[in-house]
Amino acid sequence: MDLTEERFCLNCGAALHGRPDKVFCNTRCKNEWHNRINGDEKRRRERVFGILWNNYKILETMLELQEHTPAISSLEDAGFRPGYITGFRKLRGRNEFRCFDITYNKTEARLYNIRRAPELL
Ligand SMILES: [Zn+2]
Repeated sequence: MDLTEERFCLNCGAALHGRPDKVFCNTRCKNEWHNRINGDEKRRRERVFGILWNNYKILETMLELQEHTPAISSLEDAGFRPGYITGFRKLRGRNEFRCFDITYNKTEARLYNIRRAPELL
């Protein structure tokens, strides 16, 4: 077993000395690394949530306008991103998509049956 294996700081890449479980050279490196990782995660979470929220507002508008079978292409023109959903299930052979408390079915070209979902148990 090689006990002299070189290890490097996760943050700055400097060679580490001392305890074998050490992963950062010092507290500053540890804090910088955690801030960077948490920052990336926060930005990603905010970006994805922003897309879902935009989808939700578009679906709400469809409900208000009683637009029952909007073309996906026109929704996409308004910023709708069909790949972003909060839930999915097969119900009586049909694919049911969910965006928070709004559910819908879809064909290749259109959404249909857009509705407020009953509360989930
Ligand atoms: Zn370091």
